Amino acid sequence: MENVMIVGTGCAGLTAAIYTARANLSPLVLEGRMPGGQLTTTTAVENFPGFPDGIDGPDLILRMHQQAEKFGARFQYGVVEEFVPGSPHRVKVDGEWIETHALIIASGASPRYLGLEGESALIGHGLTSCATCDGAFYRNVPVCVVGGGDSACEEATFLTRFASKVYLIHRRDTLRASKIMADRALSNPKIQPVWNATISALLTDASGEVSGVRLRDTKSGTESELEIKCVFVAIGHEPNTPAFRGILDTDENGYLVQKVGTATNIAGVFAAGDVADHVYRQAITAAGQGCAAAIDAERWLATRE
Ligand code: NAP
Repeated sequence: MENVMIVGTGCAGLTAAIYTARANLSPLVLEGRMPGGQLTTTTAVENFPGFPDGIDGPDLILRMHQQAEKFGARFQYGVVEEFVPGSPHRVKVDGEWIETHALIIASGASPRYLGLEGESALIGHGLTSCATCDGAFYRNVPVCVVGGGDSACEEATFLTRFASKVYLIHRRDTLRASKIMADRALSNPKIQPVWNATISALLTDASGEVSGVRLRDTKSGTESELEIKCVFVAIGHEPNTPAFRGILDTDENGYLVQKVGTATNIAGVFAAGDVADHVYRQAITAAGQGCAAAIDAERWLATRE
């Protein structure tokens, strides 16, 4: 029987692990399909406070992991297959049931990618899903953003601070984004929309970095090439909540709903980080929520004792 089980080892899960371990709760931390979460797919993280010279995403995660282990967090690989709330809660991991009093879900969200050949190998080499993380690396060069939602518009607008030109590639000729975000993007002289287009191939230079994209017109089927230095993919995220849907309250996009603080609709179950947050999605905000969830879980356990 566990006191606290934490699902996920991104910034939120590891911060929750540090706090609950330090509170002597000996948390069991589940490392899923992508140990370390989204930060492991980035290179330099320049906006995490305390690292004025930046820090590599994987290095930051490794340090958090070591910090949690130092205080007694226990780690186990596995993916949650089923969740049965109760007293205790029961969580099925790779065929085995684990019982826990408190559960902190920090399983994150996975950015959607385009599904193009060679795409995953180019992540961090001119293809990324995070403008806030990587935009500053592309100063005075042309870049493109793929997508037509609020994220795509927000990222395109943000990228005009650095890039010489931002192509906004959308598969239709109207944006899905809210009017205010769409107007802001489309009125920016540095943003050039490319309507009715999808990327059919990623082009690379001799050093293996993205150098351009091949576009396909969705109406005529004609192909063309565009020279850019980075593709920012902004076609949405999928919260990693399949095992919890129908039991825990989610919003229409599947994100867990926090009721009070990090508490979900089920007592003793808390949500932290990108699994519940589609707005900020930053390492530091996820870490902050992990801390809050740990404190919420600790206080909830104390009331039961
Ligand atoms: P989204 O609203 O789901 O938009 C995804 C966009 O990507 C859509 O335009 C979609 O095209 C396109 N797309 C999807 N799959 C594609 C594919 N395989 N190839 C090419 N294009 C593809 O996602 P989001 O923009 O990340 O927003 C998610 C939620 O967060 C929304 O509720 C949004 O309002 C919110 N959000 C809010 C803010 C803010 O208020 N500051 C900022 C960001 C996000 P179609 O339009 O053709 O479907």
